[in-house]
Amino acid sequence: MSFSSEVKGELCKHGVQKHCCAVAECYGALMYCNTFRPNEIKFVTASREFSARLPKLFKKAFNLEFDRISDGGESGKGILQIIQREKLEKIFDAFGADIDNTPVHHVNLAVLEETCCKVSFIRGAFLAGGSVTDPEKRYHMELVTSHYNVSRETYALLLELGFAPKETVRSGNHVLYFKKADHISELLSTIGATNAGMGILNAKIEKSMSNTVNRKLNCDFANADKVVAAAQEQMAAIKKIEQAIGIFNLPEPLQQAAFLRIANPEASLSDLALLSDPKVTKSCLNHRLKKLVAYAATLD
Ligand SMILES: [Zn+2]
Repeated sequence: MSFSSEVKGELCKHGVQKHCCAVAECYGALMYCNTFRPNEIKFVTASREFSARLPKLFKKAFNLEFDRISDGGESGKGILQIIQREKLEKIFDAFGADIDNTPVHHVNLAVLEETCCKVSFIRGAFLAGGSVTDPEKRYHMELVTSHYNVSRETYALLLELGFAPKETVRSGNHVLYFKKADHISELLSTIGATNAGMGILNAKIEKSMSNTVNRKLNCDFANADKVVAAAQEQMAAIKKIEQAIGIFNLPEPLQQAAFLRIANPEASLSDLALLSDPKVTKSCLNHRLKKLVAYAATLD
């Protein structure tokens, strides 16, 4: 089962208590469904739970039944239709739209004044025309409709609820989408999929934890590279000095530092300091090795 189907399944467990919210959810679902015309309403959905929810929802909102319901046979997609004129009229009426004079759909915001109804509208829209990607893959949630105005007005509704989606057009459809895990998580929780919302947040936390570990590892590697580069520079300097004047002609402290490095070509500065005999501090040793490098540079 896809992640979207799981989320839709969870949303459908959300009981619709108030009549206003049932109407609002139907409204969102219709605006984002396959066909919403004066002569036909048609839902095609892969979500069994949504297929089962729609008749109850329409019963509660408009006190009417679907004319045809099929399980879609091979495709496994549920198909639900209303084609009777009086039912279609009743539905258009409920949204304040004239069935014979609605050239393009608009979201009538007067039907969605209460926050509970705005949320229900978004739930319906998501159930009919939304999807969300498995957070293991990436963070993406979208609402897709063929109606330009509907997309603009849904955008405004989302803003009112505190969510700011991005917009795009894809194959003639208008898409509102979210890319941030915390936004997707919050929106899913708001419309009733609390578990899915938490799941997305957990996936995000796990990812950022493993990123932190990786960064730490990369950082250690970078440090290791620096240690090697410094040691190589010192070795090259010591060789140069040996060839030019001989290490034994260096002052005693520098001789010690040079021999310590030759004996331990890959050791870090801290390790070299620990290995020194007589003991020198790390900063003292650092100072001496730098002197060797500086001195070698004068020999060109
Ligand atoms: Zn309501």
